[in-house]
Amino acid sequence: MRYTVTSRGDETSNALQQRVKSYLNDFGLEYDEENPEIVISVGGDGTLLHAFHHYKDKLDDMCFVGVHTGHLGFYADWKPEEVEKLVIHIAKTPFQIVEYPLLEVVVRHYNQPQSDRYLAINECTVQTMEGSLVCDVDIKGENFETFRGDGLCISTPSGSTAYNKALGGAILHPSLASMQVAEMASINNRVYRTVGSPLVLPQHHTCLLRPLNDVDLQLTIDHTTLVDNKVKSIQCRVAEEKVRFARFRPFPFWKRVKESFIGD
Ligand code: NAP
Repeated sequence: MRYTVTSRGDETSNALQQRVKSYLNDFGLEYDEENPEIVISVGGDGTLLHAFHHYKDKLDDMCFVGVHTGHLGFYADWKPEEVEKLVIHIAKTPFQIVEYPLLEVVVRHYNQPQSDRYLAINECTVQTMEGSLVCDVDIKGENFETFRGDGLCISTPSGSTAYNKALGGAILHPSLASMQVAEMASINNRVYRTVGSPLVLPQHHTCLLRPLNDVDLQLTIDHTTLVDNKVKSIQCRVAEEKVRFARFRPFPFWKRVKESFIGD
């Protein structure tokens, strides 16, 4: 099997990366950064976000597994002291694959025929460089509300424990092919009104944001920030593609939520 190992870049993660590499080479696996079948990410959830974006055009042919060198992660859920066990699993046992939904974001501009398409494993956020974001929010082709406030966050189920959670969004199980729209400080008074609650949309429903003020937008796709102007619309929906994780042992999602946010 072809594999690669990515690292957060700190001393501990780099040392562990080298150990994993040397173990897997000893087992006769082929190191291949270009076309790996399994990507082992060493660091944290942030490291896995980077690995995902590096390989996002080859998702059908590969799966990911994450080792955390800091705190327990949602994507990086193997401990450093478990790597020997993990390596034996990778080398010797046929493993199970679990698939998580992704978010597709299509940005269209005025006076520009082609659109830009992005995939997010956590979320897309939309804010402005200055002042409030004012935008029409259409759901499934129907106008739903006019949003005025700091911004909006559209997250995947596996990203629901990240930025979305800090905004008061719900934690969604990654088996739900869905996306969640959460508000960032909406202005609500007698003039402006938004629903005020996070919305969970199923697959094939689109959420279209149409900016109404001519301002530079700040978009984030996971860890990446883009500044964009003349944006006509931002269309979000559950992507056709999925991200695949190698599963070698049961570690239920709700157990990860409990261990991450509540404690043992
Ligand atoms: P960062 O600011 O260096 O780290 C963000 C934190 O979010 C890290 O602790 C990271 O875990 C954690 N994280 C990432 N994905 C997660 C997930 N699916 N569930 C739970 N925690 C998760 O930024 P970064 O490492 O480049 O990551 C970008 C992400 O930061 C964005 O996708 C966004 O979700 C998140 N973010 C959160 C807030 C907030 O909560 N207020 C604000 C901005 C951005 P590790 O330490 O394991 O890497």
